[in-house]
Amino acid sequence: MLNNLDISGKVIAVRVDFNVPLNAQFEVTDNTRIVKALPTIQNLLERGGKVVLMSHLGRPLRKLKEDGTIDREKFTLNHVVPELSKLLNQQVLFADDCIGDSVKEKINSLNNGDVLILENTRFYEEETNGNADFAAALAKNADLYINDAFGTAHRAHASTAVMADHFDCDEKDFGLLMASEIKNATKVLDNPKSPYVAVLGGAKVSDKILLIEQLLEKADELIIGGGMAYTFVKAQGGQIGNSLLEEDKLDLALDILEKVKQRGKKIHLPIDSVIASDFNNDAERKTVRSDEIPDGWMGLDIGPEAIQTFDEVIARAHTILWNGPMGVFEFSNFAKGTMAVAASIAKSSTSEETFSMVGGGDSVAAVNLSGLADKISFISTGGGAMLEFLEGKTLPGIAAIKG
Ligand code: AMP
Repeated sequence: MLNNLDISGKVIAVRVDFNVPLNAQFEVTDNTRIVKALPTIQNLLERGGKVVLMSHLGRPLRKLKEDGTIDREKFTLNHVVPELSKLLNQQVLFADDCIGDSVKEKINSLNNGDVLILENTRFYEEETNGNADFAAALAKNADLYINDAFGTAHRAHASTAVMADHFDCDEKDFGLLMASEIKNATKVLDNPKSPYVAVLGGAKVSDKILLIEQLLEKADELIIGGGMAYTFVKAQGGQIGNSLLEEDKLDLALDILEKVKQRGKKIHLPIDSVIASDFNNDAERKTVRSDEIPDGWMGLDIGPEAIQTFDEVIARAHTILWNGPMGVFEFSNFAKGTMAVAASIAKSSTSEETFSMVGGGDSVAAVNLSGLADKISFISTGGGAMLEFLEGKTLPGIAAIKG
């Protein structure tokens, strides 16, 4: 527990996820990730720590300038300083590197209660390579190490995992955000209260295979919507027109359906779909059975009967996991199914017996769009990291702290 560490007067290197969107003037346009890191930062400040924040911002080495150098103007973490200063109500300091003598000097001059942000760790390829010397250089100036960047916990990078080796067990821990992500995801992974209903959507079956396999063990009922549903419909002989299809996953889909049956579980595919004549918000649209989609038309949302069935399944759940939208919710004319599922989960979550968790980038965006986010028991900040956790994988960022 972070609260058990001796903080006062110590230099604490905290890996946060400040990979925030910026506008053309390099102002932060969505501060969610910074806000989520505040409880840990404030906790350390109140206890008299000297807080040194590390993060990446974008992919600077993949987007070099024409002359082959790093675009420092675009990718500097200095862009985050005004927003964090405002949120903390104190001037946050900045170091224009993340390792080396200049950083050491800045850290040596910190007072208790100061906050220093280091420059983008991904200015060095050694960060993503998980280079041991680079990790040692990052660790060198700190007494303690805290990882609060759940979103990058599935990467064995220097600042997210490798540098933890330089700290003893009583010198490192998870931040409050990361601890809460782990606690909630563990609840769903290890102790789901039955009936456990998993709602999966999004574009591709292939992205979710490992998750589905895990859920075949743990969940009682699976709801499958979104583009991935059509591969299942087609595998059973349905006509799906021009809907999304992963031809090479048809056998896998049949295999999943068979396993569901063998294990006495249930799978729910959308009985009907809202189809479009084109991949376009203003395309002509109509509602048909999901296995009777004419050529030239594509399913872009689940239909009213599917909404009704999914609502009934979700209503009887005591554990709900949601990953992936039910349709192309970015198009307002095809967002109804996704919004309806958000509403069903929110409604079911009002029961004290029910625990609901939404994880994975797009479903989080959908829940926020629905205005029902505060009704969901837990919304994860980690897209890929949460998926890997729920697939049962060991995340390097977690293993590095737990040992
Ligand atoms: P994922 O990242 O796999 O969760 O996929 C999310 C994306 O799937 C979103 O951008 C949706 O627009 C897209 N999507 C969901 N349903 C469909 C569909 N029926 N057809 C095409 N794309 C879809």
